[in-house]
Amino acid sequence: MKKATKFLTMTLAMVMTVCTLSACGGGASKGNTITFGTNAEFPPFEYVTSSGVIGEYDGIDMAIAKQIAESNGMTAAMENMEFDSLLVALQNGQIDAVIAGMTATDERRETVDFSTPYYTATQVMIVREDSDITVATDMADKKICVIQGYTGEICVQDMGYTYEAFKKGTEAVMELVNGKCDVVVIDSATAQKYVGDNEGLKIVEDPGAFESEEYAIAVQKGNTELLDKINSAIEKMLADGTINELAVKYTEEVMAE
Ligand code: GLN
Repeated sequence: MKKATKFLTMTLAMVMTVCTLSACGGGASKGNTITFGTNAEFPPFEYVTSSGVIGEYDGIDMAIAKQIAESNGMTAAMENMEFDSLLVALQNGQIDAVIAGMTATDERRETVDFSTPYYTATQVMIVREDSDITVATDMADKKICVIQGYTGEICVQDMGYTYEAFKKGTEAVMELVNGKCDVVVIDSATAQKYVGDNEGLKIVEDPGAFESEEYAIAVQKGNTELLDKINSAIEKMLADGTINELAVKYTEEVMAE
């Protein structure tokens, strides 16, 4: 073999090896990594911190994602993006799965498949302490804030009320604190964190108006291979109490901050 050809062949072989190792070719689910997408603005489920369980990301979902990957002999990677972009990124193959305190709704089921549910939540109303809102229908003539694309927005829409939508929970809560809106509709555990962080707020529940919601992990429709891996890990973590422990631990942690 001529020297130049030999060099080329060797280079090509090296490039191919590197590609296999680093999962070249774009997209996700290559090699030994599960690439999850999240929106790290949702404590205690996902938030940014100095040292999280997956890079800078920590929370109940992040710990669950890590264990799902590890129990399948894989590694978890996390991509942080806007909540609204998660299902699009999943369908594009930019990420393998979504773990974002995401409620498994019938509407979302039209485009993605969901895992076994791992957490039950409900929407609640955050109001100022002196508010006269006691049930959901009291919101009729109030200024309502929601977070764009969250199930809270869908609930308020279904009730037929007008509202303003924000990109982040913290932005909506600031509006409430500053008296620019009267009520924020958001998931229960996250609401607790925001009420703990800000003086003068309280939570109002109305189980008659807000049905319970189940959080689940989304995968591309028909990706049963990954869904089976996720489900077997979740079912084990539900059965042995791991998810419960994580929920208690992270809730205490974020409330203490
Ligand atoms: N559970 C809500 C939803 O699915 C909010 C999730 C979130 O903000 N991360 O829309």
